[in-house]
Formats: sequence, C-alpha cells, structure tokens
Amino acid sequence: MTPPRIVIIGGGAGGLELATRLGNKLGQKQRAQVTLVDQNHTHIWKPLLHEVATGTLDYEIAQLSYRAHARAHHFEFQLGRFLSLNRQQQQIMLAPVYADDGEQVLASRELSYDYLVLAIGSVSNDFNTPGIASNCIFLDSPAQAKRFHRHLLDAYLKLNSPGHPKDKLNIAIVGGGATGIELAAELYHAAAELNLYGFADLRKDRLNINVIEAGPRILPALPERIAGAALKELKKLGVTVRTDTKVTSADNRGLHLGEEYLEAELKVWAAGIKAPDFLTTLDGLENNRINQLLVNTQLQTQLDPRIYAIGDCAGSKMANGNWVPPRAQSAHQMASVVAYNIIATLNHKPLRDFQYKDHGSLISLSRFGTVGNLMGNLVGGAMMIEGRIARLAYVSLYRMHQVALHGWLKMLFISMVARINRIVRPRLKLH
Ligand SMILES: Cc1cc2nc3c(=O)[nH]c(=O)nc-3n(C[C@H](O)[C@H](O)[C@H](O)COP(=O)(O)OP(=O)(O)OC[C@H]3O[C@@H](n4cnc5c(N)ncnc54)[C@H](O)[C@@H]3O)c2cc1C
Repeated sequence: MTPPRIVIIGGGAGGLELATRLGNKLGQKQRAQVTLVDQNHTHIWKPLLHEVATGTLDYEIAQLSYRAHARAHHFEFQLGRFLSLNRQQQQIMLAPVYADDGEQVLASRELSYDYLVLAIGSVSNDFNTPGIASNCIFLDSPAQAKRFHRHLLDAYLKLNSPGHPKDKLNIAIVGGGATGIELAAELYHAAAELNLYGFADLRKDRLNINVIEAGPRILPALPERIAGAALKELKKLGVTVRTDTKVTSADNRGLHLGEEYLEAELKVWAAGIKAPDFLTTLDGLENNRINQLLVNTQLQTQLDPRIYAIGDCAGSKMANGNWVPPRAQSAHQMASVVAYNIIATLNHKPLRDFQYKDHGSLISLSRFGTVGNLMGNLVGGAMMIEGRIARLAYVSLYRMHQVALHGWLKMLFISMVARINRIVRPRLKLH
C-alpha cells in the first residue's frame, strides 16, 4: 500500500514546524510521504524581518535552506508558488518557476494529496488606500525587507554626503502595531551602529521618524500599560507618534493625512494584515472578512476535512468569539495540533480540539528596551514585564521556534555561532 501523501503549503512559522514534526514522526518510518511547498528556497522566521530591513540581522546568515532541512527531517521540498486547488481530484497547482533572467526553470505542476495543510501566512492590508501599493514598502517577505534595507542604505549614503541639501531623513511608518513600533526603534539602533562604520554624520537627531496610527493609541492589541511604556521609550528616542491620524493616500514624496501632507523619503505600511486575496476563490472554501480560511475547532476547513489551515491564513474563532490573533505563537500552537490530528487520523484515533493559549506579547524596542506581558490567558494580561527579563522572554520565542525545527542541542550550537558571529563579523549588514 502506498503511504498517504501529506502536502503542506508554506514553510513559515507554522508550516515548517509542522513539516519537521510530521517528517520526523511519519516520513522517517515511511508511514506517510510528507511534502513541503514554498515559493522561496529558504526560511526565515517572519518576526525577524524588521531586523533584516534595518540590517541589524544579516539575512544570508539567518536563513535556513528548505532542501537541507528536508533532508535532515525526512520530508520532501518542492519549490513553487501555490496557485489553485481542485478538491475533487485532491490536487494543487503550482506556478512555473523562472530564473532571474526570465528563463523558465520549472513548468507549472500539479501535486496530489491525501491531506493538505495551508500555511501560507498573510500579507499587508492597505485597505485599498490610493497610492499605498506603489509608494510604500511592506514587510511581508524577505525580498521586501531586503529592498527596504537597500533603500535605507542609499538614503543614509545621501544624507551622509557633504553638501546634501536635506538635514534630515524622513521616514514614515504607518501602523502603530508591534511591527511598526519595533521597526521604529530598530532604525535608531541601525543608525547608531552605522556611525561606527564611516557614516560619521549620521546622528540620531538627523532621523525624523513618524509613526502614524489611525486608532487612539499604539499597540491596540496589548494592555494600555504596555503601550504606555513603549510610547515613553519611543519618545525618548525621538520618534513622533501621531494617533487618531488616518493616511488617506500616498505619492512618491510622502503621505496625505487628510488635509495635511507629510513628506517622507521612506514609507512603510504596517497597518494590519489579511490572508492573500486568491484564498477567496479556492474551490469554494469559506473565508472571513480578511480572507482567512474558516476552520473548525480541529483546524480543518469547514467544507473539507482533508484540508487544514494554520497560522495567519486560518480563521479560527476562540470561545469568546474573537478570532485567534495572527501571531507566531498561534501558528506554532496550530502546527502542534494539526500534527497531532493528522497522526491521529492515520491511527484511527479521535482528533484534538485547538484552544489558543495566549502566553503574552512582547515588544522589542531593539537594544533600548523590551516591554510586554506574560501569561495573557492566566492573569488577563496583567503581568507586565520590562527590561532584561522581557528581553530574555522575547529571545526565547525565537529559540522555541528553533527548538521545534532543530531540537535543543542544535539550537544551542546555532545560538553559539550567532554569538561568535557578533564578535567576528560587522555588527550590521553594510551592503
Ligand atoms: C516584522 C514582523 C514582526 C513580527 N513580530 C511578531 C512577534 O514579535 N511575535 C509574534 O507572535 N508574531 C509576530 N509577527 C507575526 C508573525 O510573524 C506571524 O503571525 C507568523 O509568521 C505567521 O506564521 P505563518 O506560518 O502563518 O506564516 P508565515 O510565517 O508568514 O509563513 C508563510 C510561508 O508561506 C509561504 N507562501 C506564501 N504564499 C505562498 C504561495 N502562494 N505558495 C507557496 N508558498 C507561499 C511564504 O514564503 C512563507 O514561507 C511579526 C510579523 C512581522 C511582519
């Protein structure tokens, strides 16, 4: 009998952990053929993208090759962009793959599955605001983060050159959620580091960073006390935070805030997410308002129990009626439940319900501080932490992802290598 085919689309925070676990548990013993599909060759944990964007993290070093990881964990990797689904034939369609010069490297392909897991994450939601897509940078993918980094270095080069007409570099970040706030702080860190590498004129006061938030306060998903602590730190750095301010459109020179015009050489849009639009036409599968695929308590799509959805692209409701938040910890928890449920199905055992556990949220203000709360579920988000403990908890989130991928021992080696790199390599990606 041929083993069942499990296809996972999307090798991100949730999908790669799931492929690793199923590969180790089923692939190794040939109890199932596990295939991971991703549009990229390599994985990076998405919460690190703002560090890639500012250059405080070198993407070339932090990325993980899907192919190498697949070999070590007994699954197959297929490079390709997921296009469409045929539920009756249990097949997915992948787009052709092209080289940089436009030559077709792989033709479009169909892959058959017995169980399918959709883990393709989310994209920025610009709410159809005019001019945003063509004039703002999103931080949805490594390619976009690298693009921002190149623009940033060019802007710093100009600013640092003698005779440059402008005294300041204007950066506008739309969205006062975790991504926008963390990026703002990281930009000050990067500027301070660049000062050591020949950008002598790049002082902190030459950065003019505006964070624009439509709601009444930053970090709306977090308790007020944490938002207050983050705001205090941002103000200390020199960031201007504008709340109750809506961006009405953008052009290549800046942003329109109703009547007001805010000039900005670099514009980042980080004001909310949605699942990719094409999920609304996926062979009848149902969606919520932000395109997420509706799933039942066992994380199967509501119309098709052979198809699961996890992470940012899954619309899963909590007992209180709210949607599970699009976070790395949700993707991680969902991956564990779907691994359990697929194995249980093969063993003819009952499936497990998914129950989101909020372990708290942490906001890294780069080296200037970390604030957050722990055990959101247990104490209603009341346990606020700051400083070193918060930093440790923040880093441990990534370490847990690495443990899920590599196990404890290899994670420790990887952390050691990262420490050594901090000594032997420049503190910033400089090109
Ligand atoms: C800058 C930033 C900071 C963040 N900080 C935090 C934080 O501190 N804490 C936290 O909990 N969360 C944070 N998040 C949110 C977190 O990153 C996401 O919630 C999490 O990564 C979702 O995991 P996922 O597996 O659903 O999707 P992702 O991790 O986004 O992975 C999706 C994968 O699918 C692939 N893919 C997409 N479309 C296709 C396609 N059509 N075909 C094939 N492959 C495809 C992508 O290449 C990617 O590998 C942050 C996000 C950003 C952008």
